Amino acid sequence: MEPHDEIEDVLPPDALFRAMEPFGPPLGDAACVTWDPNRFPSEREQTAAFDGEPVMPERDIPQARALCRTCPLLESCRRYAQDSRDEYMFLAGETAEERRKKWRKSGEIAKRRRRAIELHALNLPTATIARLLGRDESSIRSDLREVGKRHSHLPPTA
Ligand code: SF4
Repeated sequence: MEPHDEIEDVLPPDALFRAMEPFGPPLGDAACVTWDPNRFPSEREQTAAFDGEPVMPERDIPQARALCRTCPLLESCRRYAQDSRDEYMFLAGETAEERRKKWRKSGEIAKRRRRAIELHALNLPTATIARLLGRDESSIRSDLREVGKRHSHLPPTA
């Protein structure tokens, strides 16, 4: 049985999903949600470009970049792309592949720690958190201790 199946019944709906994906996209008037007929022949093609599946990459990616440059959420979208380490979407003027080349180990650790905190806040045992995150228990305890040094309100680890 997968750890997800094991605990989904005892948590509020969506709690596990939110804990595993703790970074949300920026809220507000994103330029990509309104079809720009001057840049894309159809709404479907614009959506596909931002979903990371451009119909004609050589045409659609430059147009998506240009649209991002007009977006009032550009900076917060860039932070979201960096923190979430999203692997699919076109975000803040870059494809997922372009972002992946700039990923650093520190970002991976930061995301894992953030997930560990969120799962810990759901009162899941350390062993379950470790299985969900594909780590051993000692590394999860170490993550929580590290974060606990900066956030003293965290409960003790199981
Ligand atoms: S920066 Fe680009 S991807 Fe991000 S919300 Fe704005 S238009 Fe969409």
